[in-house]
Amino acid sequence: MHRSVLYYLACLPVHLLVVAAPTSNKLHNVHYGNGNVGKFWHISDLHLDPSYHVTKDRTKVCLSSSDRPASDPGAYGDYMCDSPYQLISSAFQFMKHESPQPDFMIWTGDSPPHVRAEELSTQQVIDILANTTHTIRELFPSLTVYPAVGNHDYWPQDQLPATTNEIYQAVAKLWAGWLKPEALATLREGGFYSQLVRPQLRLVSLNTILYYGPNNVTENMTDPTGQLKWLRNTLEASRQNIEKVYIIAHVPIGYLPYAMDTTAMREVYNERLVEMFRDYSDLISGQFYGHTHRDSIMVMLGRQGKPLGSVFVTPSITPWKGARDPYSNNPGVRMYLYDPADYGVLDVWQYYLNLTEANREGSSAWTLEYSLTQAFELPDARPQSLHKLGLSLAQPQSKAFHKYFTYFMVSYNDTITCEGYCKTIQICSLMFVDSDSYSACMKQQSIL
Ligand SMILES: [Zn+2]
Ligand SMILES: [Zn+2]
Repeated sequence: MHRSVLYYLACLPVHLLVVAAPTSNKLHNVHYGNGNVGKFWHISDLHLDPSYHVTKDRTKVCLSSSDRPASDPGAYGDYMCDSPYQLISSAFQFMKHESPQPDFMIWTGDSPPHVRAEELSTQQVIDILANTTHTIRELFPSLTVYPAVGNHDYWPQDQLPATTNEIYQAVAKLWAGWLKPEALATLREGGFYSQLVRPQLRLVSLNTILYYGPNNVTENMTDPTGQLKWLRNTLEASRQNIEKVYIIAHVPIGYLPYAMDTTAMREVYNERLVEMFRDYSDLISGQFYGHTHRDSIMVMLGRQGKPLGSVFVTPSITPWKGARDPYSNNPGVRMYLYDPADYGVLDVWQYYLNLTEANREGSSAWTLEYSLTQAFELPDARPQSLHKLGLSLAQPQSKAFHKYFTYFMVSYNDTITCEGYCKTIQICSLMFVDSDSYSACMKQQSIL
């Protein structure tokens, strides 16, 4: 069993409480070991809204606001709306300028806008996927991009089937320049694949929408399209071949950091995936997800409470605020730094666009929001370091936690605070990804 949160707090090293602000906008002077560091981009949740246009009637700016008035619409978008094309294009132009030749890019899904089913169709979803794919390829013609399918990358949304269909077939065509025939074969059948991306590094792209609560078509299945069986076989083969593995998917494992007792996918699948990832934690050097539109991390602990996995949830490019969301997020993209010797994650460089400023200035000044290691004084982003970060954030009055929460919203508003219950669910979701340990954390935290 895991150890209790009270135990963790008692063991907290004092030096972790010291927090330094990032000192510079450019991190080119950062050195890691022998200086040989791998890099890759991560983008997610583009949610292109082709209807977006600035007009006097604020309820008519975009279909994705669902008749809510836009808050302060400008060329780069509005917090009530999904992304105008200009916002998406500005993100890619910035990335190309900042790092034109990373090792690869991962793209964790959700291209179409949040609109009523009647506003879209299978063909429109395919057209939007084609648009975003072509935009990336135009700016990064020689880069390999590894996509994962999101719950919006289907019509009607969330209902991704366990069998081949028009959309899996369409994306297999669109992504044929990036993926090998073997990967395209499983993508076409079930929306998932694996591919060797570097020597001894395999990327596994899962279709976690098959396990997503609102997906009615997979509701009573035990292993839709055999993906779990395929995953175990793939991980077993990787172990035989002495490969490391990166897992990417749209809907993450674990618990939502902004809702009580709520797993992002169906709980039974969360348990099964966590168990499997624990079994193969010696190979899995990182897990990378999207879907929540917020910036968060999780650490996957083993059954004895040992940190075994680094889990990253990247914020969205869309600034769209849901009808029940208390706040929004600024658009973000990120770069990971990794150790080419064992593919362990060394750092996260999170970039963002201050949307209000961009609209006011009429230009898009994408900039570094933070470096994970500098912001929280960590040696790297490996499981042990993320675990220490979680422990320091759990401290009462932790100043680092306010910083973490501001980054959670991609610096949308640093006057919003998160205390009490809000903080409890953040901390428990960061530290515990399975049902038993998460429930224990929630009980412990409520008496602190
Ligand atoms: Zn999304
Ligand atoms: Zn999503």
